[in-house]
This record gives sequence, structure tokens and C-alpha cells, in this order.
Amino acid sequence: MTKAETQKLTSIIKGYYNSQFFVDEFVINAWYEELKEYELQDAMDHIKKYLKQFPDTAPKPHTFTKGLLTREERQKLANEKYFVECNLCHKWMGMSEYDEHYGDCLNIEYLINVAKEKGEEITRKELEHCRKEVLDRLYEKYKPTNTWMPKGINESNNILGWKLI
Ligand SMILES: [Zn+2]
Repeated sequence: MTKAETQKLTSIIKGYYNSQFFVDEFVINAWYEELKEYELQDAMDHIKKYLKQFPDTAPKPHTFTKGLLTREERQKLANEKYFVECNLCHKWMGMSEYDEHYGDCLNIEYLINVAKEKGEEITRKELEHCRKEVLDRLYEKYKPTNTWMPKGINESNNILGWKLI
């Protein structure tokens, strides 16, 4: 979206989160940097979703784009036959991309949690912008000891475990 479109978007967000959301030139620039790869219409549709999920917390540019598709991502999707939604980052993607994505996404989710435990804050966006080698190295360094399992997966709901019963 263009800067003028970004300005329009921030005005609309201001309408919903009035006293919590302040718009000036710097705010518009920050939003523009984060949202220029996205389409205005998609972002406007996304506001409604965001409102439902976070009625009391005004969005920040990097939290707002979670689950939103860039123009390029949308075009890629248009060429795919089957789509899946990643249950970690809620991004939609074609099946062909999913396998590779999910491994990385799981590592990112894990690293965010490791950082949180250490009292550091690292955003998903920052990790997504890391090159794959950097991400792999980070993961190697902090990889789980045998007690850690991704959220939602544990011995008791392991599908193979159920099959054995
Ligand atoms: Zn994901």
C-alpha cells in the first residue's frame, strides 16, 4: 500500500481504538514500513478480525500483520491448488510450501519461548527475517532437551501412542 493508503488505514484504526491509538507522521511511517508489501483492502478486512481478537489492545504494525498476506504471498497462493493454514502463525500457504514452512515455524515458536524464559523479547517478525542458516544455528544452540515438546503435543495425545492401544 502507498503512504496515503497507510494514512487512511491508521485513521480507521484510530476510529476503533480512539484514546489508545495516536497518529502522527512517525506513526504513519512506522506503519508504512511494515505494511507497504500489503494491500489496503486486505488490511481493512483484517482490522475486523483483529478487533474481534484484541478489542482492548490497539494494534502495533508488527502484531497487526500476523495472519495477513503480502501481495507476493497472495499471488503465490493463486497458483496453488490446495491450501493449508499454519496453526502456529496462522498464515495460509500452498501445500508445496507447507512442509518446509512448518519446520521453520516450529523452530521460531520454540525460540520465542526460549527468549521469553530468559526474559528477552524477540518477535516472530524478527526471527522470520533471519536467514535460514542463522535460524538453524540459533535453534541448534537452544534446541530442546528431551523434556520439551511443542505446545499441544505430548506423549498422551501422540497419534502413534493411541494407535497402539
Ligand atoms: Zn507458520
